[in-house]
Amino acid sequence: MNYEAFYRQSVDDPDTFWSREAQRIDWHRAFDTVCDHARPPFARWFVGGETNLCHNAVDRWAQRQGDTPALIAITTETPDGTPAEKTWTFAELQRETERTAAIMRSLGVGRGDRVLIYMPMIAEAVFAMLACARIGAIHSVVFGGFAANSLATRIEDAQPALIMSADAGSRGGKAIPYKPLLDEAIGLSAHKPGHVLLVNRHLAEMNLVAGRDVDYATLREQHLDAQVPVTWLRSDETSYILYTSGTTGKPKGVQRDVGGYAVALASSMEHIFCGRPGDTYFSTSDIGWVVGHSYIVYGPLIAGMATILYEGTPLRPDASIWWQIVEKHKVARMFSAPTAVRVLKKQPPELMKRHDLSSLKALYLAGEPLDENTSAWVADALGVPIIDNYWQTETGWPILSVARGIDDKPTRLGSPGVPMPGYRVKILGEATGTVCGANEKGVVVIEGPLPPGCLQTVWGNDERFVSAYWSNFSTEQVYSTFDWGIRDDDGYYFILGRTDDVINVAGHRLGTREIEESISSHDNVSEVAVVGVEDKIKGQVAVAFVIPRHADRVATPEAKQQLEKEIFAVVDRQLGAVARPSRVHCVNLLPKTRSGKLLRRSIQALCEGRDPGDLTTIEDPASLVQIREALQS
Ligand code: ATP
Ligand code: MG
Repeated sequence: MNYEAFYRQSVDDPDTFWSREAQRIDWHRAFDTVCDHARPPFARWFVGGETNLCHNAVDRWAQRQGDTPALIAITTETPDGTPAEKTWTFAELQRETERTAAIMRSLGVGRGDRVLIYMPMIAEAVFAMLACARIGAIHSVVFGGFAANSLATRIEDAQPALIMSADAGSRGGKAIPYKPLLDEAIGLSAHKPGHVLLVNRHLAEMNLVAGRDVDYATLREQHLDAQVPVTWLRSDETSYILYTSGTTGKPKGVQRDVGGYAVALASSMEHIFCGRPGDTYFSTSDIGWVVGHSYIVYGPLIAGMATILYEGTPLRPDASIWWQIVEKHKVARMFSAPTAVRVLKKQPPELMKRHDLSSLKALYLAGEPLDENTSAWVADALGVPIIDNYWQTETGWPILSVARGIDDKPTRLGSPGVPMPGYRVKILGEATGTVCGANEKGVVVIEGPLPPGCLQTVWGNDERFVSAYWSNFSTEQVYSTFDWGIRDDDGYYFILGRTDDVINVAGHRLGTREIEESISSHDNVSEVAVVGVEDKIKGQVAVAFVIPRHADRVATPEAKQQLEKEIFAVVDRQLGAVARPSRVHCVNLLPKTRSGKLLRRSIQALCEGRDPGDLTTIEDPASLVQIREALQS
């Protein structure tokens, strides 16, 4: 089958298509209905079926290939950055998951209860997620490193019976205490958890609150022999809640099901990620993000692969650490983000060449636009296909990519690809709500029902689900991605930025992303952010902040001016003078969310002399100081 036939069947005959895909997982009870879409925009997948994510990720492989590696936890958060690692086979992972499940049960956690997981990238975090899935508790993983305020709002929204955490995380070899933040967050929240289960890594002091806090290691000893059979769940029961990364405002609690998600992951592991049982998979994301849920924990394990859980930065002990891991563990498929690749691009290229990367078949990148420059650089450096894929926390798996498990349909530079199975993607005119022609820019939308694996609703707020996502056009009820895009003559899609990142310069509507793409083609630009800033005459003007690749070449004010001039010329040539930014500022940090996405709204606010807004999700507040300083100079 080729891609076209494969995709066509998924949208023309979804019952046949998804019935077949559903056979990739084990069902305790067969489903009666493939998709119930009687109450749009809500969709229920595999109705009547019963299954379990943990069974499909762990137990069934423990039965078939119990001695093969399942989880490889590697940390470079050691005193000198020397990697330390530990491996669990599928059989061992099952035992450990049962122990954690037994601990949770002993603390009163039952089916449907929420468990908030606020953990560093350590194996116990994976045991915790899988244990929840095993007993039908709903996990809500919150990125470890969010400060007390962000954590408090999530505690209040999810109302967990149990919070699982640790004494500390670690970054660049420095302990980051979690417990004081957690105590503060619980203090701020109106909801109080029954218990707090703490893994003590002995990185930081920890005061246990009597009657509430319990020690993981102590309880584990008591449950060493625990056997906790999986709880069979209805396909449409809730497996987890995950908050979006908050690039554009208050995070939404994305709620996911059990059966649809399991099938979507099994299907995507086969068709997009070409996952083979026994192969090793390495995603550099964090379990606090959707990529971590789908493609560190559940996806690879459901496919019977060994998955690498990496705690550490890409630069410590040196910038070759990822490639060292690829070589040592013969990683077949790797998943990362453009932002991480841009960091590596600034490092000496020899570091990559030092390792035997012949096991690697492809690198998948997602999370933000992959500029052509970065894509070409990493393709050349690694010598493997670079597979861009576009999706959202809401969808749980790629909307756009290429299906390498199906055929060799070529990728196109700058495009994440074509629709993945079940996604009826369209481009609608923002004002008209009618379908755009080829190469005509509009909003990327998806016709309902969304395929399996996508969000069921917004946690505790069906009304917000409908009003936020499905009510943006008067012409028809479609799911809005809030991203701009175009489809070219051959059906490839291009993502042109977020709908709230559009600026209006003297009546011309410009996507900041297009200007960024153009600027990043300049040799000495490593990263760039463009924002629209209020202007008395033109309405708005574009202002650019660039991180130079070679900071030494722009050390003087004259050199900075020269760079600005060259960038103007690049933009003039590629997009026309209307898109030319009014200023180009050099910085060496840009404000980003914890997941590596540019916080354009905060930059824009600073440029306009306003408060930068909600900064609870910001990675490095020093970046704002840099923006301020650049503006003053
Ligand atoms: P919030 O919705 O709370 O503002 P967020 O949109 O940043 O946060 P995510 O779900 O993590 O939260 O990010 C999804 C968004 O990331 C997409 O809507 C898109 O804007 C961007 N994105 C993801 N992958 C790609 C890609 N391959 N190319 C271009 N953009 C991408
Ligand atoms: Mg979003």
